[in-house]
Amino acid sequence: MWLYKAEKTFLARLKHGDDLITAIRDVFKSNEIKMGVFMAIGAVKNARIAFYDQQRHLYIEKDIDEPAEILSCVGNISEKEGETFAHAHITLGMADGSSKGGHLLEGTTIFACELYGAALEGEQLTRHFDDVTGLMLWKC
Ligand code: ZN
Repeated sequence: MWLYKAEKTFLARLKHGDDLITAIRDVFKSNEIKMGVFMAIGAVKNARIAFYDQQRHLYIEKDIDEPAEILSCVGNISEKEGETFAHAHITLGMADGSSKGGHLLEGTTIFACELYGAALEGEQLTRHFDDVTGLMLWKC
C-alpha cells in the first residue's frame, strides 16, 4: 500500500470528437500531473474496450459501433516506460438499457464528457511487466 496526499482536484470538460483515454491522459500530462485518479461521466459515439484473458495473457478487443452513455469511467494515472499513462475501465449504458464494459482502449470517441480528477503527491508509481499476470503493474 502507498499513502498519498490529494494535492488538488479538478473538473474538466473533454472535447467532442476526441479520443477518450487520450484526452484524459492529456489533461493530466499538460498540467504536469504524473500521478492521480479520475472518474468521468458523459456519452460516447462509439467505443473500443477489452477483456483480459487470464489464461492466455492477452486482451480480447471489442468494438462497440453505436452511441452509449458513459455510466462510469474510473482509473488512475502513473508512469509507464517513462511516459504518463492512464489506465481506465468503463461501463457503458446502451440504448436498450443494458450495459457493457471493460478495459478502455484508444478508439473510443467522445460525444460529451465531464472529468473529475485528483492529483496525488507522494512516491511515483511506475508500471513494470509482471510475470504472473502478464500485465504491466505497479511494483510491490
Ligand atoms: Zn485494465
